[in-house]
Amino acid sequence: MAPQKRSAEEADSLITGVKALLVDIEGTTTSISFVKDKLFPYVKDNCEKYITAHFDDAETQKDITALRELKDKEEGKEGVVEIPDATDSNKDDVIKAVIDNIKWQMSSDRKSTELKQIQGHIWREGYTTGVIKGELFEDVCDVLRQLQEEEINIYVYSSGSVESQKLFFANTNEGDMSDVFNGYFDTTTGDKKDSASYKKIASEIGVSGDDILFLTDCTEEATAAVAAGLRSTLVIRPGNKDLDEKHLQKFSCIENFSELFGDEDDEEDLKRLATGDNGDLDDDDDDDEVVDEDDDDGEDSEGDEGV
Ligand SMILES: [Mg+2]
Repeated sequence: MAPQKRSAEEADSLITGVKALLVDIEGTTTSISFVKDKLFPYVKDNCEKYITAHFDDAETQKDITALRELKDKEEGKEGVVEIPDATDSNKDDVIKAVIDNIKWQMSSDRKSTELKQIQGHIWREGYTTGVIKGELFEDVCDVLRQLQEEEINIYVYSSGSVESQKLFFANTNEGDMSDVFNGYFDTTTGDKKDSASYKKIASEIGVSGDDILFLTDCTEEATAAVAAGLRSTLVIRPGNKDLDEKHLQKFSCIENFSELFGDEDDEEDLKRLATGDNGDLDDDDDDDEVVDEDDDDGEDSEGDEGV
């Protein structure tokens, strides 16, 4: 479904007619460096303390078992760290192997569910003790609250688990933002570069695709959302990957959430909305092909896995 066509008069802002807003986190509400420079180092610095303190907890034992069983999937990978079965006397060896396993997976950019699970539990402690605060760009909180007052429902779609997303927004530098959100989606709904995921989200929140605006820094995600009939605006933030001219032309772009209400300096965005050309792909370029790439290739251009 193509984005709804609007007259220039109607298109006085990017949120005209929008009933639901869907937001990405890294690179959109939050700097990519938050994950790289705060969340990941927190796990590396605190995993030993955390695992030693919680070793006998059922949850930690489950996490360790999951990491241990991961070895079958990791067979043959360089540097893989095996975790010995626990006996009465080798607790220290198991703890050391778990720590080495976590650090190996992180340094080789593994994205296993098993790693994410234990990372999430370590972050939970960081958030709940106030050592970690979810960092939002300064425009985010006020604009989301204003949109909420205007009865636009707000949802999150991020690669990090729903549990991590909830922790992040419940413990931000602007306080507890949980009440702003109507729901959270993660990759259990589907890959963020797959248009089917956006169709599922639209159906789940019960709003027609063209009444949903998806904000993201990632052109492949924006392309997938538009292919599913949603609207999408690219968010340009400090530290994000540069957008090429083609995408700057194809999508409306903002540098600050307050521009959603209309930016007098950028009439081009409104013109694109007015002509319905907001992310429509009308050429044969295949740069935007939505592909389900194997993420385990060591590349992590989006840095999108912490929350
Ligand atoms: Mg992102």
